[in-house]
Amino acid sequence: MTGQFIPAAARRWKRIPQEAQGKILANVWCGNCRDSVQIVLETAEIESKVLILKGKCKTCGKDVCRVVEPEN
Ligand SMILES: [Zn+2]
Repeated sequence: MTGQFIPAAARRWKRIPQEAQGKILANVWCGNCRDSVQIVLETAEIESKVLILKGKCKTCGKDVCRVVEPEN
């Protein structure tokens, strides 16, 4: 699942507990569905220490992304 993550993003993602990962992936806003949806994760990158998860809405297939703020 982390195959297409850039290495820094993969490292950051692995530090997030699995339970929290699940909650993140299940709670992504889709503008098309106008609802929180499950993301089908495709890639992840890091920009200004913010982890950006990118993929498709599991419901409608539209591109969605989820930003994970830096840890303290
Ligand atoms: Zn959708």
